[in-house]
Amino acid sequence: MDDLRLYSPQKIRQVVQDAGFSFSKSLGQNFLIDGNILRKISQSADLKEGDLVLEIGTGIGTLTEELALSGADVFCVEIDRSLEPILQETLARFENVEILFQDIMKTNLAEEIHSRYGRRPIKVVANLPYYVTTPILMKLFREDLELESIHVMVQKEMGERISAPVGTKSYGSLSVYMQLRSKIERVVNVPRTCFMPQPRVDSIVIAFREIRSNPSIDYDQLERITRAAFSKRRKTVLNALSSYGLSASKEEIAEALEKTGIPLTKRAEQITLDEYIVLGQNFPKLIGAEENEGREK
Ligand code: SAM
Repeated sequence: MDDLRLYSPQKIRQVVQDAGFSFSKSLGQNFLIDGNILRKISQSADLKEGDLVLEIGTGIGTLTEELALSGADVFCVEIDRSLEPILQETLARFENVEILFQDIMKTNLAEEIHSRYGRRPIKVVANLPYYVTTPILMKLFREDLELESIHVMVQKEMGERISAPVGTKSYGSLSVYMQLRSKIERVVNVPRTCFMPQPRVDSIVIAFREIRSNPSIDYDQLERITRAAFSKRRKTVLNALSSYGLSASKEEIAEALEKTGIPLTKRAEQITLDEYIVLGQNFPKLIGAEENEGREK
């Protein structure tokens, strides 16, 4: 039994039983039990000795083991300290793994990583807790990190939204932001049967490559504009934007749309990535609008 890899269901059952551990639904604790999926993730991330990997949410170490076997340095952030005794055993043979027990959303990643490893390109690989997927992705993109690639397991519907092309039902502010920051690839579909305990939804692994930050784009301003534009998908973009509570008047918004060459009658989902970039540049600088945003005028 002891020479079984961690992804085997018997091994997971044994480990959690021995430790008296109970899975937390609210922390999204669904552990991977499929070796093929694990191998596909690490192959797609092209892991090798000398790489630095950030893993978010170790669970009992199923994916961590696969990452560590590549010889890469693996830095993990896991919120659940009750997993510590388990991980001390399951990952005991790896000197290239370090785990920080902390909420990823409260972690200064740049500081934690730079102080340990210096400024090295980082590959993020994670089977994310679904309750906090978008905030984690936004945090990764916003922090001062040398991101080389991100491979994340997300809920299938979320994966569709992230990778949706213009003109489709799933195309939204998340698609615009993520696609402007990186090249997105759907790596592999993962049915719910690949997890223990089994979740109620299917999943997909999404890769973000060629991660970029264009200095001529104000991503945060653009994100606020697209969130407003998509808030009422059936309305014209002019009406959606001007009824959202942004700190720009209807006239200013109409002027920005016209300057960009976007007909005022278009809807948000018909506007391409390039058009959104130019719209963001033509838009009046948004100020302290957070508290107004979302309120109907
Ligand atoms: N990597 C393991 C696997 O693939 O089997 C576990 C993945 S499980 C879907 C998500 C993990 O993220 C859980 O271990 C959970 O405790 C952890 N987690 C949940 N919220 C977190 C947070 N805010 N910060 C860090 N880890 C978190």
